Amino acid sequence: MVWDDSFTSFFFGPPSVVKPWLERMREFYEAVKGEHELVPPERASVELLKVVHCDSLVSKILELNEEGGVIDYGDTYIYPGSLETLLAVFGGTLKASELASEEGFAYTPYGGLHHASRCRAAGFCPANDVATLVELLTRKGMRVAYLDFDVHHGDGTQEIFYARDDVLTLSIHMYYPGFYPGTGWYDELGAGPGKGFSLNVPLPPRTGDEAYGAVLELIVKRAVENFSPDFVVAQMGVDGHRSDPLGGLLNLTTNTYYRIGKMLRSFDPPVAGTGGGGYGRASVRAMLSELGNAPDEEPTPSPPEAWSRIEEVLKYFEENIPWF
Ligand SMILES: [Zn+2]
Repeated sequence: MVWDDSFTSFFFGPPSVVKPWLERMREFYEAVKGEHELVPPERASVELLKVVHCDSLVSKILELNEEGGVIDYGDTYIYPGSLETLLAVFGGTLKASELASEEGFAYTPYGGLHHASRCRAAGFCPANDVATLVELLTRKGMRVAYLDFDVHHGDGTQEIFYARDDVLTLSIHMYYPGFYPGTGWYDELGAGPGKGFSLNVPLPPRTGDEAYGAVLELIVKRAVENFSPDFVVAQMGVDGHRSDPLGGLLNLTTNTYYRIGKMLRSFDPPVAGTGGGGYGRASVRAMLSELGNAPDEEPTPSPPEAWSRIEEVLKYFEENIPWF
């Protein structure tokens, strides 16, 4: 597991969410330090930020690192000196991939900044570490599956690889009018040669553990098996947990996160997992259960609309994606 002390220094959201995020990181550290070997990453270079991002976005990050300020429409903050944490996050995600190559599965608790697209910061994400890792792996000739379990659509990563057939992006998220970021309907399949390689599973509110489990079995496992990637990069956000103050509306419990962790470790190719979203204290426990602790909650049932949505999505994939 990857750890850098600067993970507890800064977060890129507005002041109201900085405190709970950093508390999550500290609790995570206290909980795992005795149990797991913690490997420090090397700090990434500023050049690494340019692997998938426009120079204009990188210049803006460097500029705001001096005086601080908002870098997007109002959600994403660069605090003075926070570049150091951002580079540690990027380094942490790369380190997780190195460890995964050796050990099969590795995890970094920060990272998964999936809302940043090529030239634009968004949703507490100044720049996209997971997309950067995916791009670097493809430069080594690998086919990569990017799996996004955060309650919010992985829109930035999807945009960056939308026209690529060597990268599968698969995002499972809540979709509901007014819920951030508002994209990720199942007909967003990719463009040009990338058509059929962007998969989205938009779930209704209160989907629950039972139906989410069916998504893992019927869609995620099947997609990974049939796409047959050389490497898997996962955004393991836990903000779909029912106690999460920003995203708990999917009504998930630690049972779902336990299952995701188990599934990821069962895949043949190496899997690098990143923390993603999750802003409540219960999410810390959920995150730990991803890493192997037994769940202590009853699984939540699923309403008819969740089951019918899954059927609808499956049918659409089967009709429109030849390889699926
Ligand atoms: Zn999220």
